[in-house]
Amino acid sequence: MTCIYCQKQFEPSKYRKTKQKACGDPACQKRRQRDNLSAWQERNPLYYRIKRMDPGWRAKARARAKRWRTRHKDRIQAYRQQTMEQYRIYMREYMRRYRAAAKTKGDRKVQESGV
Ligand SMILES: [Zn+2]
Repeated sequence: MTCIYCQKQFEPSKYRKTKQKACGDPACQKRRQRDNLSAWQERNPLYYRIKRMDPGWRAKARARAKRWRTRHKDRIQAYRQQTMEQYRIYMREYMRRYRAAAKTKGDRKVQESGV
């Protein structure tokens, strides 16, 4: 069978012989998961919008995210370190655009703070 992502030949799993379209390569699996997720989101566009309106769900989701962040501080740290240069470039660009927009509006406070 031919992988729809990398076009390489692969041996499908015996359980998914007819349905498997992507090979087991981690990069292809990642793309497959992302594609599946966006296809699902297209089929269920209101799913999270409706969930977010429920205060109970929101409180739980917030608590879950906070728990994850406190448990995986090392991973957040590693990610931040890995992407620090990109983040700096992004922030520099962001602030440049922000100041330019503020300037056209005539907002002096933002310019003077010079972040
Ligand atoms: Zn592949």
